[in-house]
Amino acid sequence: MKYRTTSKNRINYLNKTFMIMFLATTMATIILPSSHSISLLLETVPLEGHFSFKELTHAAKDFGNRFQQHPLAVLHPNSVSDIANTVKYVWQMGLNSGLTVAARGCGHSLHGQAQAHEGIVINMGSLRASPMKVVQSGGGVKEAYVDVYGGELWINILHECLKYGLTPKSWTDYLHLSVGGTLSNAGVSGQAFLHGPQISNVLQLEVVTGKGEIVNCSKKQNSELFYSVLGGLGQFGIITRAQISLQPAPKMVKWIRVLYSDFKTFVRDQEKLISAQKTFDYIEGFVIINRTGLLNNWRISFNPQDPVQASHFSSDGKTLFCLEMAKYFNHQEAHISEQEIKMLLSQLSYISSTLFIAEVSYVDFLDRVHVSELKLRSKGLWEVPHPWLNLFIPKSSIHKFAEQVFGNILKDTSNGPILIYPVNRSKWDNRTSVVIPEEDIFYLVAFLSSAVPSSTGNDGLEHILSQNKRILDYCESNQLGVKQYLAHYTTQQEWKTHFGPTWEFFKQMKSTYDPLEILAPGHRIFHKSIPFS
Ligand code: FAD
Repeated sequence: MKYRTTSKNRINYLNKTFMIMFLATTMATIILPSSHSISLLLETVPLEGHFSFKELTHAAKDFGNRFQQHPLAVLHPNSVSDIANTVKYVWQMGLNSGLTVAARGCGHSLHGQAQAHEGIVINMGSLRASPMKVVQSGGGVKEAYVDVYGGELWINILHECLKYGLTPKSWTDYLHLSVGGTLSNAGVSGQAFLHGPQISNVLQLEVVTGKGEIVNCSKKQNSELFYSVLGGLGQFGIITRAQISLQPAPKMVKWIRVLYSDFKTFVRDQEKLISAQKTFDYIEGFVIINRTGLLNNWRISFNPQDPVQASHFSSDGKTLFCLEMAKYFNHQEAHISEQEIKMLLSQLSYISSTLFIAEVSYVDFLDRVHVSELKLRSKGLWEVPHPWLNLFIPKSSIHKFAEQVFGNILKDTSNGPILIYPVNRSKWDNRTSVVIPEEDIFYLVAFLSSAVPSSTGNDGLEHILSQNKRILDYCESNQLGVKQYLAHYTTQQEWKTHFGPTWEFFKQMKSTYDPLEILAPGHRIFHKSIPFS
């Protein structure tokens, strides 16, 4: 239903709210308001958008496809005020209700992080259609940024910025994610070694705190809130707008893959590339474990540099490591970039017959995972359980980790890709909330498994979950200094261990900006407590 703010509505709203609040507070000592009375209360919130109370299954689902918490209502906001009014309303109800609020970008979470059991889910995508603003102030391109809503998708931002010949610098591998969703985590991809994660490329935020206040923040203004929100798992506020730093956009990309059979050589080359002054624009890598010796589709859509040599290549059942690189260029500088690529490749020690190169547009390169998404969707394989495990591993532990995990725990990589690539810690800001290892270089290792529903075999959920547990147990018992990314824990003690020395500050920020613990309950870090519950 829609509720538009007219003066008549306002009077009705005040009368109704007063009556219901009065009843709710006087009854609170005896019984808490029922779901029905809370729904009635919510209908009185002055909105330009509307609440839905029916057909909410969508808001109880996510990409992980394993956790389902049904909300009481979904807010479809038409303005930032709608979000602020709703949160303020819940804040003013105080502890008379257990109501919580979760912002939902696209629901690409893995463990119900964007869900709110019997609470309110805010459909951040409702504000998506609103115009973005690309600004090239005083300093021109150097200081350019795009100002977007928190629910905006990165793919839309890319297309809009390209109209101005500009682009954000740091990405995720998949662009159909929302700005608020990735900035609440970190946003890491093959550009992070150079530009830092997406949270290192934000100039300003507009945030609705857990008290319903709309606050602007940046490195200079309300900086404590600014840094806390970045990587803050939605705990301190809902990101309603963000200013993202831009750079000139290239038109084309040389996309390169080479293989290694020796892990030490593979990581040495990766580390050499991320530390070099002149290097690629994107560096990632992945693991191929295939005991049969038949290679899977690691090179599909790539042309071999030497087709005859490449056709003779076989893995002999060895574990292989694929280094993936990209160099951006424009047509007029194609020959310069060719030379740079040659020079960079000449310093690497990959298996020479495995050099594969593709030339694609910048958009096609960045939007590459969407192609796989469409294929998987058409086969009904997108909406399966995704027991993903993402780890940040310090450089000093990566060899020990690889030996045990790729050499022993995992028998093959047929359940999904395993990404592995290093990043420079100097590009991450210590003041943000994201938890990363202490060392100058650390690796993102991502086990991106899909489970076959109802299978009890090696491709089933139980098998993959027990494999994940073995990996985590190994890291813990060998004290590898590993931190989980996109982490999921069930107890506060586990979160405390995850945050380590920053836990007390994280808790302090929570009590400052969301003292009633209303926001982002799906992470299960804090639990809004209600009397007599
Ligand atoms: P949601 O799932 O909707 O929300 C995630 C969390 O953020 C929830 O706690 C939610 O309450 C909170 N939130 C959402 N919007 C806001 C807001 N506006 N303000 C405050 N809090 C908010 N991550 C990477 O870093 N790198 C990758 O390369 C990468 N690739 C991925 C590929 C795929 C196919 C998928 C499914 C995920 C990938 N991710 C990657 C993970 C992704 O960044 C996170 O799952 C992210 O949270 C998803 O964004 P979303 O918009 O769907 O967020």
